Amino acid sequence: MFDKSTWIKLPRNVVVGHGVVDELGETISDLHLTGEPLIITSPTPNELAGGLVRAQVPESATIIVEEASFESIERVIETAQAQAADYLIGLGGGKPIDIAKMAADEINCGLVSLPTAASHDGIVSGRSSIPEGDSRHSVAADPPLAVVADTEIMAKAPWELTTAGCADIISNYTAVQDWRLAKRLKNVEYSEYAGALSEMTAEMLVDNADSIKPNLEESAWIVVKALVSSGVAMSIAGSSRPASGAEHLISHQLDRIAPGQALHGHQVGVASIITEYLHNGDGGQWRAIRDALKSIDAPTTAAEIGISDDDLLEALTTAHEIRDRYTILGNGVSLDAAYETAAVTGVIDRQ
Ligand SMILES: [Zn+2]
Repeated sequence: MFDKSTWIKLPRNVVVGHGVVDELGETISDLHLTGEPLIITSPTPNELAGGLVRAQVPESATIIVEEASFESIERVIETAQAQAADYLIGLGGGKPIDIAKMAADEINCGLVSLPTAASHDGIVSGRSSIPEGDSRHSVAADPPLAVVADTEIMAKAPWELTTAGCADIISNYTAVQDWRLAKRLKNVEYSEYAGALSEMTAEMLVDNADSIKPNLEESAWIVVKALVSSGVAMSIAGSSRPASGAEHLISHQLDRIAPGQALHGHQVGVASIITEYLHNGDGGQWRAIRDALKSIDAPTTAAEIGISDDDLLEALTTAHEIRDRYTILGNGVSLDAAYETAAVTGVIDRQ
Protein backbone atom coordinates (compact mmCIF):
# COMPACT_ATOMS: atom_id res chain seq x y z
CA MET A 1 0.00 0.00 0.00
CA PHE A 2 2.84 2.38 0.69
CA ASP A 3 5.17 1.32 -2.07
CA LYS A 4 3.81 3.69 -4.67
CA SER A 5 4.14 7.40 -4.94
CA THR A 6 1.11 9.63 -5.18
CA TRP A 7 1.07 12.65 -7.38
CA ILE A 8 -1.83 15.01 -6.89
CA LYS A 9 -2.22 17.92 -9.23
CA LEU A 10 -4.76 20.52 -8.19
CA PRO A 11 -5.67 24.01 -9.36
CA ARG A 12 -3.77 26.48 -7.20
CA ASN A 13 -6.27 29.33 -7.12
CA VAL A 14 -10.01 28.87 -7.30
CA VAL A 15 -11.85 32.17 -7.30
CA VAL A 16 -15.65 31.98 -7.23
CA GLY A 17 -18.09 34.84 -6.86
CA HIS A 18 -19.96 37.80 -8.24
CA GLY A 19 -17.89 39.81 -10.69
CA VAL A 20 -14.63 37.94 -10.03
CA VAL A 21 -13.67 38.21 -13.70
CA ASP A 22 -12.33 41.59 -12.54
CA GLU A 23 -9.85 39.71 -10.36
CA LEU A 24 -8.40 37.78 -13.28
CA GLY A 25 -5.39 40.10 -13.61
CA GLU A 26 -4.64 39.76 -9.94
CA THR A 27 -5.02 35.98 -10.06
CA ILE A 28 -2.61 35.78 -12.98
CA SER A 29 0.04 37.82 -11.22
CA ASP A 30 -0.49 35.77 -8.08
CA LEU A 31 0.38 32.68 -10.12
CA HIS A 32 3.50 34.46 -11.43
CA LEU A 33 2.29 34.02 -14.97
CA THR A 34 3.91 36.63 -17.16
CA GLY A 35 3.94 37.55 -20.81
CA GLU A 36 1.22 37.31 -23.41
CA PRO A 37 -1.64 34.85 -23.09
CA LEU A 38 -3.78 33.34 -25.81
CA ILE A 39 -7.49 33.34 -24.99
CA ILE A 40 -9.36 30.29 -26.32
CA THR A 41 -13.08 30.82 -26.51
CA SER A 42 -16.17 30.17 -28.63
CA PRO A 43 -18.53 32.75 -30.16
CA THR A 44 -21.15 33.13 -27.40
CA PRO A 45 -18.81 33.26 -24.38
CA ASN A 46 -16.63 35.66 -26.34
CA GLU A 47 -19.57 38.00 -26.81
CA LEU A 48 -20.63 37.57 -23.20
CA ALA A 49 -17.30 37.98 -21.43
CA GLY A 50 -14.46 38.31 -23.95
CA GLY A 51 -14.28 42.07 -23.45
CA LEU A 52 -14.12 41.74 -19.66
CA VAL A 53 -11.29 39.21 -19.95
CA ARG A 54 -9.29 41.26 -22.45
CA ALA A 55 -9.65 44.30 -20.19
CA GLN A 56 -7.76 42.27 -17.58
CA VAL A 57 -5.08 41.01 -19.97
CA PRO A 58 -4.69 43.76 -22.58
CA GLU A 59 -1.66 42.18 -24.23
CA SER A 60 -3.55 39.00 -25.08
CA ALA A 61 -4.60 37.48 -28.39
CA THR A 62 -7.90 35.64 -28.90
CA ILE A 63 -8.74 32.56 -30.90
CA ILE A 64 -12.36 31.51 -31.48
CA VAL A 65 -13.05 27.79 -31.75
CA GLU A 66 -16.38 26.56 -33.09
CA GLU A 67 -16.27 22.91 -32.16
CA ALA A 68 -14.48 20.46 -29.92
CA SER A 69 -12.27 18.46 -32.26
CA PHE A 70 -8.65 17.48 -32.68
CA GLU A 71 -8.53 19.92 -35.57
CA SER A 72 -9.46 22.76 -33.20
CA ILE A 73 -6.76 21.65 -30.78
CA GLU A 74 -4.21 21.64 -33.63
CA ARG A 75 -5.28 25.13 -34.65
CA VAL A 76 -4.95 26.40 -31.07
CA ILE A 77 -1.50 24.82 -30.72
CA GLU A 78 -0.31 26.35 -34.00
CA THR A 79 -1.64 29.79 -33.08
CA ALA A 80 -0.14 29.63 -29.60
CA GLN A 81 3.24 28.64 -31.03
CA ALA A 82 3.14 31.21 -33.83
CA GLN A 83 2.39 33.96 -31.34
CA ALA A 84 4.74 32.56 -28.72
CA ALA A 85 1.92 32.66 -26.18
CA ASP A 86 3.21 32.36 -22.62
CA TYR A 87 0.08 30.79 -21.18
CA LEU A 88 -3.50 30.01 -22.17
CA ILE A 89 -6.86 31.22 -20.92
CA GLY A 90 -9.89 29.02 -21.61
CA LEU A 91 -13.14 30.98 -21.64
CA GLY A 92 -16.45 29.24 -22.19
CA GLY A 93 -18.76 26.38 -21.33
CA GLY A 94 -17.07 23.05 -21.77
CA LYS A 95 -15.56 22.99 -25.23
CA PRO A 96 -13.06 25.87 -25.24
CA ILE A 97 -11.78 24.80 -21.83
CA ASP A 98 -11.36 21.18 -22.90
CA ILE A 99 -9.52 22.32 -26.01
CA ALA A 100 -7.36 24.77 -24.06
CA LYS A 101 -6.51 22.05 -21.53
CA MET A 102 -5.26 19.66 -24.17
CA ALA A 103 -3.37 22.38 -26.04
CA ALA A 104 -1.74 23.59 -22.81
CA ASP A 105 -0.61 20.04 -22.10
CA GLU A 106 0.82 19.65 -25.57
CA ILE A 107 2.82 22.89 -25.55
CA ASN A 108 3.56 22.58 -21.86
CA CYS A 109 2.27 25.90 -20.62
CA GLY A 110 -0.09 27.07 -17.90
CA LEU A 111 -3.83 27.37 -18.23
CA VAL A 112 -6.38 29.55 -16.50
CA SER A 113 -10.00 28.36 -16.74
CA LEU A 114 -12.87 30.85 -16.90
CA PRO A 115 -16.07 28.84 -17.11
CA THR A 116 -19.15 30.69 -18.35
CA ALA A 117 -21.51 27.82 -17.53
CA ALA A 118 -21.61 25.24 -14.75
CA SER A 119 -22.38 22.48 -17.22
CA HIS A 120 -19.90 19.72 -16.30
CA ASP A 121 -16.90 18.95 -14.14
CA GLY A 122 -14.42 19.35 -17.01
CA ILE A 123 -14.16 23.07 -16.18
CA VAL A 124 -11.95 22.17 -13.22
CA SER A 125 -10.67 18.64 -13.65
CA GLY A 126 -7.53 17.38 -15.26
CA ARG A 127 -9.45 15.56 -17.95
CA SER A 128 -10.52 16.42 -21.44
CA SER A 129 -13.14 14.81 -23.57
CA ILE A 130 -12.97 15.39 -27.31
CA PRO A 131 -15.13 13.69 -29.94
CA GLU A 132 -13.11 11.52 -32.28
CA GLY A 133 -14.89 9.88 -35.18
CA ASP A 134 -18.03 8.37 -33.72
CA SER A 135 -16.79 8.15 -30.16
CA ARG A 136 -15.36 10.42 -27.51
CA HIS A 137 -11.78 10.45 -26.57
CA SER A 138 -11.16 11.09 -22.90
CA VAL A 139 -7.61 11.96 -22.00
CA ALA A 140 -5.75 12.97 -18.90
CA ALA A 141 -4.36 16.48 -18.85
CA ASP A 142 -3.14 18.76 -16.10
CA PRO A 143 -5.90 20.61 -14.28
CA PRO A 144 -5.95 24.37 -14.82
CA LEU A 145 -3.58 26.42 -12.65
CA ALA A 146 -6.51 28.59 -11.67
CA VAL A 147 -10.27 28.62 -12.04
CA VAL A 148 -11.95 32.00 -12.09
CA ALA A 149 -15.69 31.37 -11.94
CA ASP A 150 -17.73 34.54 -12.15
CA THR A 151 -21.20 33.67 -10.90
CA GLU A 152 -22.68 36.83 -12.40
CA ILE A 153 -21.69 35.57 -15.86
CA MET A 154 -22.55 31.96 -15.11
CA ALA A 155 -26.05 32.81 -13.90
CA LYS A 156 -26.81 34.10 -17.41
CA ALA A 157 -26.04 30.75 -19.02
CA PRO A 158 -28.99 28.77 -20.36
CA TRP A 159 -30.73 27.01 -17.48
CA GLU A 160 -30.35 23.55 -19.01
CA LEU A 161 -26.56 23.88 -18.83
CA THR A 162 -26.82 24.33 -15.07
CA THR A 163 -29.20 21.41 -14.65
CA ALA A 164 -26.78 19.32 -16.73
CA GLY A 165 -23.96 20.27 -14.37
CA CYS A 166 -26.13 19.26 -11.42
CA ALA A 167 -27.00 15.91 -12.98
CA ASP A 168 -23.30 15.26 -13.69
CA ILE A 169 -22.66 15.70 -9.95
CA ILE A 170 -25.65 13.60 -8.86
CA SER A 171 -24.18 10.77 -10.95
CA ASN A 172 -21.23 10.69 -8.53
CA TYR A 173 -23.39 8.42 -6.36
CA THR A 174 -23.34 5.61 -8.87
CA ALA A 175 -19.81 6.35 -10.09
CA VAL A 176 -18.45 5.74 -6.59
CA GLN A 177 -20.44 2.51 -6.25
CA ASP A 178 -18.91 1.30 -9.52
CA TRP A 179 -15.48 2.25 -8.28
CA ARG A 180 -15.95 0.28 -5.05
CA LEU A 181 -17.27 -2.69 -6.98
CA ALA A 182 -14.21 -2.59 -9.24
CA LYS A 183 -12.03 -2.46 -6.14
CA ARG A 184 -13.71 -5.56 -4.72
CA LEU A 185 -13.84 -7.57 -7.92
CA LYS A 186 -10.80 -6.36 -9.85
CA ASN A 187 -8.66 -4.87 -7.12
CA VAL A 188 -8.46 -1.49 -8.84
CA GLU A 189 -6.90 1.21 -6.75
CA TYR A 190 -9.51 2.94 -4.62
CA SER A 191 -9.13 6.12 -2.59
CA GLU A 192 -11.40 6.40 0.45
CA TYR A 193 -10.73 10.10 0.54
CA ALA A 194 -11.64 10.74 -3.11
CA GLY A 195 -14.67 8.44 -2.88
CA ALA A 196 -15.98 10.18 0.23
CA LEU A 197 -15.37 13.64 -1.23
CA SER A 198 -17.21 12.73 -4.40
CA GLU A 199 -20.21 11.35 -2.51
CA MET A 200 -20.28 14.31 -0.15
CA THR A 201 -20.30 16.65 -3.14
CA ALA A 202 -23.40 14.96 -4.54
CA GLU A 203 -24.98 14.97 -1.08
CA MET A 204 -24.44 18.69 -0.63
CA LEU A 205 -25.88 19.45 -4.03
CA VAL A 206 -29.00 17.39 -3.34
CA ASP A 207 -29.38 19.03 0.08
CA ASN A 208 -29.29 22.44 -1.58
CA ALA A 209 -31.60 21.53 -4.45
CA ASP A 210 -34.19 24.06 -3.25
CA SER A 211 -31.76 26.90 -3.88
CA ILE A 212 -31.01 25.79 -7.42
CA LYS A 213 -33.37 27.80 -9.60
CA PRO A 214 -33.25 29.60 -12.96
CA ASN A 215 -31.86 33.15 -12.93
CA LEU A 216 -30.69 32.78 -9.37
CA GLU A 217 -27.01 33.59 -9.00
CA GLU A 218 -26.77 31.47 -5.87
CA SER A 219 -27.48 28.42 -8.04
CA ALA A 220 -24.38 29.04 -10.13
CA TRP A 221 -22.45 29.36 -6.88
CA ILE A 222 -23.63 26.06 -5.46
CA VAL A 223 -23.11 24.17 -8.70
CA VAL A 224 -19.68 25.55 -9.51
CA LYS A 225 -18.46 24.81 -6.02
CA ALA A 226 -19.70 21.24 -6.40
CA LEU A 227 -17.99 20.94 -9.78
CA VAL A 228 -14.74 22.18 -8.25
CA SER A 229 -14.95 19.65 -5.46
CA SER A 230 -15.76 16.86 -7.92
CA GLY A 231 -12.71 17.90 -9.93
CA VAL A 232 -10.59 17.83 -6.79
CA ALA A 233 -11.83 14.29 -6.05
CA MET A 234 -10.65 13.24 -9.51
CA SER A 235 -7.29 14.92 -9.00
CA ILE A 236 -6.83 13.11 -5.69
CA ALA A 237 -7.80 9.78 -7.26
CA GLY A 238 -5.59 10.42 -10.26
CA SER A 239 -8.44 9.18 -12.44
CA SER A 240 -11.99 10.11 -13.34
CA ARG A 241 -13.29 7.14 -11.30
CA PRO A 242 -14.85 9.24 -8.47
CA ALA A 243 -17.13 10.96 -10.97
CA SER A 244 -17.40 8.53 -13.84
CA GLY A 245 -18.79 5.00 -13.74
CA ALA A 246 -21.20 2.94 -15.80
CA GLU A 247 -23.53 5.92 -16.21
CA HIS A 248 -20.73 7.70 -18.08
CA LEU A 249 -20.05 4.65 -20.24
CA ILE A 250 -23.74 4.60 -21.20
CA SER A 251 -23.61 8.32 -21.96
CA HIS A 252 -20.49 7.88 -24.14
CA GLN A 253 -22.31 5.14 -26.00
CA LEU A 254 -25.31 7.44 -26.51
CA ASP A 255 -22.92 10.03 -27.95
CA ARG A 256 -21.96 7.42 -30.52
CA ILE A 257 -25.44 6.05 -31.24
CA ALA A 258 -27.38 9.32 -31.16
CA PRO A 259 -24.81 12.11 -31.43
CA GLY A 260 -25.72 15.59 -30.31
CA GLN A 261 -29.11 14.61 -28.92
CA ALA A 262 -28.64 15.67 -25.34
CA LEU A 263 -26.22 17.36 -22.97
CA HIS A 264 -23.60 15.18 -21.31
CA GLY A 265 -24.91 15.82 -17.80
CA HIS A 266 -28.49 15.02 -18.75
CA GLN A 267 -27.45 11.71 -20.31
CA VAL A 268 -25.41 10.61 -17.30
CA GLY A 269 -28.25 11.65 -14.98
CA VAL A 270 -30.80 9.43 -16.72
CA ALA A 271 -28.24 6.63 -16.97
CA SER A 272 -27.46 6.82 -13.27
CA ILE A 273 -31.12 6.06 -12.39
CA ILE A 274 -30.61 2.84 -14.32
CA THR A 275 -27.20 1.93 -12.91
CA GLU A 276 -28.39 2.60 -9.35
CA TYR A 277 -31.16 0.09 -10.03
CA LEU A 278 -28.63 -2.39 -11.41
CA HIS A 279 -26.53 -1.98 -8.26
CA ASN A 280 -29.23 -2.25 -5.64
CA GLY A 281 -32.48 -3.30 -7.26
CA ASP A 282 -35.85 -2.00 -6.27
CA GLY A 283 -34.92 -1.57 -2.64
CA GLY A 284 -32.09 0.77 -3.61
CA GLN A 285 -31.88 4.48 -4.06
CA TRP A 286 -32.94 4.78 -7.69
CA ARG A 287 -36.07 6.72 -6.72
CA ALA A 288 -33.98 9.13 -4.67
CA ILE A 289 -31.70 9.75 -7.64
CA ARG A 290 -34.67 10.24 -9.97
CA ASP A 291 -36.33 12.62 -7.50
CA ALA A 292 -33.11 14.57 -6.99
CA LEU A 293 -32.83 15.01 -10.76
CA LYS A 294 -36.48 16.05 -10.99
CA SER A 295 -36.08 18.56 -8.20
CA ILE A 296 -33.45 20.45 -10.18
CA ASP A 297 -35.39 20.21 -13.47
CA ALA A 298 -33.09 17.63 -15.04
CA PRO A 299 -34.56 14.97 -17.34
CA THR A 300 -35.33 11.51 -15.97
CA THR A 301 -36.56 9.64 -19.05
CA ALA A 302 -35.16 8.66 -22.44
CA ALA A 303 -37.93 10.65 -24.15
CA GLU A 304 -36.96 13.82 -22.27
CA ILE A 305 -33.42 13.61 -23.64
CA GLY A 306 -34.67 12.86 -27.15
CA ILE A 307 -33.40 9.27 -27.16
CA SER A 308 -35.54 6.46 -28.57
CA ASP A 309 -36.17 3.36 -26.46
CA ASP A 310 -34.18 1.25 -28.92
CA ASP A 311 -31.19 3.58 -28.82
CA LEU A 312 -31.26 3.60 -25.04
CA LEU A 313 -31.38 -0.20 -24.88
CA GLU A 314 -28.56 -0.47 -27.40
CA ALA A 315 -26.43 1.88 -25.31
CA LEU A 316 -27.24 -0.07 -22.18
CA THR A 317 -26.36 -3.45 -23.64
CA THR A 318 -23.12 -2.32 -25.34
CA ALA A 319 -21.69 0.29 -22.96
CA HIS A 320 -19.44 -2.28 -21.22
CA GLU A 321 -17.48 -2.69 -24.47
CA ILE A 322 -16.28 0.91 -24.62
CA ARG A 323 -13.34 0.92 -22.31
CA ASP A 324 -11.50 -1.17 -19.88
CA ARG A 325 -13.33 0.14 -16.85
CA TYR A 326 -15.05 -2.44 -14.69
CA THR A 327 -18.52 -1.38 -13.54
CA ILE A 328 -21.87 -2.87 -12.60
CA LEU A 329 -22.37 -3.54 -16.32
CA GLY A 330 -19.86 -6.36 -15.91
CA ASN A 331 -19.57 -8.36 -19.11
CA GLY A 332 -22.74 -6.83 -20.43
CA VAL A 333 -26.41 -6.52 -19.58
CA SER A 334 -28.76 -8.74 -21.59
CA LEU A 335 -31.46 -7.07 -23.65
CA ASP A 336 -34.17 -8.54 -21.41
CA ALA A 337 -32.53 -7.20 -18.28
CA ALA A 338 -31.86 -3.83 -19.87
CA TYR A 339 -35.48 -3.53 -20.94
CA GLU A 340 -36.75 -4.56 -17.52
CA THR A 341 -34.48 -2.10 -15.70
CA ALA A 342 -35.34 0.80 -17.99
CA ALA A 343 -39.06 0.02 -17.74
CA VAL A 344 -39.17 -0.46 -13.95
CA THR A 345 -37.40 2.85 -13.39
CA GLY A 346 -39.70 4.61 -15.84
CA VAL A 347 -36.80 5.65 -18.07
CA ILE A 348 -38.70 4.06 -20.94
CA ASP A 349 -42.41 3.21 -21.13
CA ARG A 350 -43.36 -0.45 -20.86
CA GLN A 351 -44.66 -1.61 -24.24
ZN1 LIG B 1 -19.50 13.84 -16.47
